[in-house]
Amino acid sequence: MYNCIICRYHEIATKGNNRNMFEKCLVDNIRHILRETAPECRVRRIRGRVWIEPGESGTFSRETLNMIIRELPDVFGLESFSPAILLPVDMDIIRQTVVGLAPDIFASHPAAHPRFRVRARRSNKRFPLTSQQIEIDLVTAIAEKVGYDKFDIDLKNADITLGCEIRDEFSALYFDIYRAAGGLPVGSNPRVLTLLSGGIDSPAAAWQIMKRGSPTDFITFHSFPYTPVETVDKVRSIAAVLNKFQRHGRLFIVNLAEFQKSVRDNCSPRMRTVLYRRAMFRIAEAVALREKCKALVTGEALGQVASQTVDNMDTINRSIDMLVLRPLVGADKLETIALAEKIGTMKLSSIQVPDSCTVFAPSSPATAATVDLALAEEAKIPDYAGILEKIINDIEIDA
Ligand code: ATP
Ligand code: MG
Repeated sequence: MYNCIICRYHEIATKGNNRNMFEKCLVDNIRHILRETAPECRVRRIRGRVWIEPGESGTFSRETLNMIIRELPDVFGLESFSPAILLPVDMDIIRQTVVGLAPDIFASHPAAHPRFRVRARRSNKRFPLTSQQIEIDLVTAIAEKVGYDKFDIDLKNADITLGCEIRDEFSALYFDIYRAAGGLPVGSNPRVLTLLSGGIDSPAAAWQIMKRGSPTDFITFHSFPYTPVETVDKVRSIAAVLNKFQRHGRLFIVNLAEFQKSVRDNCSPRMRTVLYRRAMFRIAEAVALREKCKALVTGEALGQVASQTVDNMDTINRSIDMLVLRPLVGADKLETIALAEKIGTMKLSSIQVPDSCTVFAPSSPATAATVDLALAEEAKIPDYAGILEKIINDIEIDA
């Protein structure tokens, strides 16, 4: 019966001059998810809403509707959406339609006396009835059709809510409101590069940044043959899950082993983790500059592990000039686990495979490494720059 889907957004509506760009980006992203399974659908924006219509067929098939209900919650920028019935701006037609639907609605509800309400919104100020008059009109018509004893009116906690929007061009009736992720449409902010490990945090960090509108590429570090091929396979699977939230992010795969051997052979064991991290940042910055990514993203959370003390984060950060976004900096591990579960990366992250950072890792890493200390250790590595350059030249790309 549904012949449109009303898509609501929130934050975009607060944008001034840029609002047009944000809306266009949102519409493009919705079209993108429909392109394969429902290319016949039309997506339009009409003042403050995006409307999806089924194209030639007139109404959505069950299959298409289910697909859209499954996919839309992952489109950033959307606040909520509702499958709806689009009607002319005519109270008689609206009333007739509602009365026609009413018996089924109450018959299919499990409660004998469901709590019911009508919520009307009227942006068309020329419409002869006010929102409240529309609500009373429709409730009365429904009660006359199904019987006054079939439901209780409850304006606060309704089991069934009938929404009715009166716009200039058309009106719409709907029942269900599905929540979406909110945020800003991916593509409304510049591209970034996420340092993606097989851990729990960095996938959640990538998701947070996409939610704020930046598409992201991924870079991962492994230490083959000291880490197995499974280390990279795991990150590939995680990147595939994250790519459901954006068009496509490439994965840059970096073998850090040569550098790590050199650190092992030349530097203080306690400094290894910080030195690995500084090298990762430098390599990531070089890739980001080459690929036109405007910032790096990490899953660092203050104080979570030895490398994430304020001192160490500072020393790691000072290896590069580029902005580093750390969306999880203030998150508790439990919050991050809950987010990883929600976005679907937790199961993959829980698979135990060796991580690049643990290769030759010391039993007690430095927790207050200064920049001077790091520079002094790096100076002990013969041809530091040459080793990094070779590693950068050998990067594999999953395009
Ligand atoms: P995660 O769960 O994301 O691995 P973590 O709590 O294990 O984080 P660290 O291992 O100290 O913390 O890593 C901090 C951040 O550094 C990670 O969130 C990630 O962004 C980056 N990072 C660490 N190891 C790698 C790696 N092997 N490849 C790419 N990025 C990495
Ligand atoms: Mg980790």
